[in-house]
Amino acid sequence: MITLDHLGDMRRTHSCGQLRLGDVGQTVTLMGWVARRRDFGPLTFFDLRDRDGITQVVFNEETAPRAHGRAKDVRGEYVIAIVGRVVRREPGQRNAKIETGEVEVHADEIYILNDARTLPFQLEVASSDGLASEDLRLKYRYLDLRRPQLQKNLRLRHQVVREIRRYMDEQGFTEIETPVLIKSTPEGARDYIVPSRLHRGGFYALPQSPQLFKQLCMIAGLDKYYQIARCFRDEDLRADRQPEFTQLDVELSFATLEQIYTLIEGLFASVFKVIDAQLPVPFPRLSYAEAMRRFGSDKPDLRFGMELQNLASALEGTMFPAFQTALAAGGEVKGIVVQGGAALPRKTLDELQEYVKRYGASALAWIKLADETSSSLLKALGQETVTRMAETAGAKPGDAVLIVAGKAKTVAASLGALRNEVARREKLIPENVYAPLWVTEFPMFEFHEDDGRYYAMHHPFTSPLDEDLPLLERATEGGETELLGRLRAKAYDPVINGVELASGSIRIHRRDVQRLIFKALGMTEDEARSRFGFFLDALEYGTPPHGGIAPGIDRLMMVLSGTDNIRDVIAFPKTASAADLMIDAPSEVDPRLLEELHIKIVKD
Ligand code: ASP
Repeated sequence: MITLDHLGDMRRTHSCGQLRLGDVGQTVTLMGWVARRRDFGPLTFFDLRDRDGITQVVFNEETAPRAHGRAKDVRGEYVIAIVGRVVRREPGQRNAKIETGEVEVHADEIYILNDARTLPFQLEVASSDGLASEDLRLKYRYLDLRRPQLQKNLRLRHQVVREIRRYMDEQGFTEIETPVLIKSTPEGARDYIVPSRLHRGGFYALPQSPQLFKQLCMIAGLDKYYQIARCFRDEDLRADRQPEFTQLDVELSFATLEQIYTLIEGLFASVFKVIDAQLPVPFPRLSYAEAMRRFGSDKPDLRFGMELQNLASALEGTMFPAFQTALAAGGEVKGIVVQGGAALPRKTLDELQEYVKRYGASALAWIKLADETSSSLLKALGQETVTRMAETAGAKPGDAVLIVAGKAKTVAASLGALRNEVARREKLIPENVYAPLWVTEFPMFEFHEDDGRYYAMHHPFTSPLDEDLPLLERATEGGETELLGRLRAKAYDPVINGVELASGSIRIHRRDVQRLIFKALGMTEDEARSRFGFFLDALEYGTPPHGGIAPGIDRLMMVLSGTDNIRDVIAFPKTASAADLMIDAPSEVDPRLLEELHIKIVKD
């Protein structure tokens, strides 16, 4: 058993990331964790770590025998304080990898403030490939958080949120808190529900977003609202989602689309300055239809080209069942040109074939323009048509064209994804470039084939374009339901490097329009009343035109920190299956609690 020392009134004079050549000769007190120790007989070296960095501490048996002796008892991750002198390192001993690498501290005294068990995994690894399994690290998240990279991400997050608050304040916005125990507001996902003890059989819902509250703030005349809001969505999880996440929720009255674009461009420009990046403003804009046509995606990555090319005109008069059936049924045949792609090996093409199948494509055809044109289509279409297709696509000698045919939706989804995949594999994405844009004029509704009805693409409070209002009336009052598919919304998403960073819209502020939207969604007046009666009432008391947006802070932080793992930017994240492995949640609760809530678990 080692004896532990008390902190007493000892104070740190410096952090472990602070000392430089200018401090040589000073006596300092440092505190932190022992990241690494090396013993060389009479000399013992510690790397002492705190949130600020690492300092090398040396214990010398000759000059400080007591401290050297005690240092022998110290293991990795023990918490210690040392008092010592800052010394310039010998030239050969300097360490350019750490900021304090020109100096070291020769310790005269050591205080062991706490010991530590052997960690369940190693914190120090040469590269992220060497990290222990993520599940293990999530179970001991407080240890994983000791890694400097995660600490850096969290500090950057703090700086970004501070900048957001500064900017929104400067723009005249008021930060307003809205409740977390609410009634469900639909954003297209499932609600997390919370049973009420005092109201038997009653449930609250956790907000999927503060959507209706922020709109009520506008009806209340608060004019410019924002909130760093925690939102909850019970969804089947994807890699870049978390069941609870944070967004900058914004709403403003009498707002035009242009005002919102300018506001948000300014916001992102300020926030990217935090990492010394310059965002080009104003952002270019693409309508949803154009983004889908040219990039096969409503969140195109504009850091590289490789746009989708329509090959239908090159196929006129040819008979190839796979293409003709697609075109005759109103579908498409499109391709992307991979520069230098004539060198793509067969194996890669096979892998890409499998890749597009994941997005519903039945096959991937290809043309290679090497000395001789080769193509998976040569037999079926002949040299002439294949050459015409390559020309239509704009391919040059040495390039390849990768082609998909089918329903427009499938072609967009598969080629859009393929475009990103090829860019990644072929290293076509420039580093340290940020390519923002607005995607605008989203469809109001999308048709779900499985249950044969329309759903709001953004949410049911989004306004249609003024010029599309007559279509809404014809669709809902005149029975021409299929027109709903043509309705465009005043909805917009800022996208950076292929990541959708926010969603927003101008809202419906008229009761009559809101009624038609609910009708279009197949909701009866009674259903609409029972779900949002309070909101429909409020719309009748002088609702100003208004609109808003909600940038996702976690996604934003992923882009700013350059990570593709959302858990790298959240202090205590959940797994992909919505579990917290550290606190073991969700978990069963005391049966007495359930009884009080009048809840019975039915075991199957
Ligand atoms: N409530 C929306 C969302 O969370 C954002 C908005 O329309 O402002 O996606």
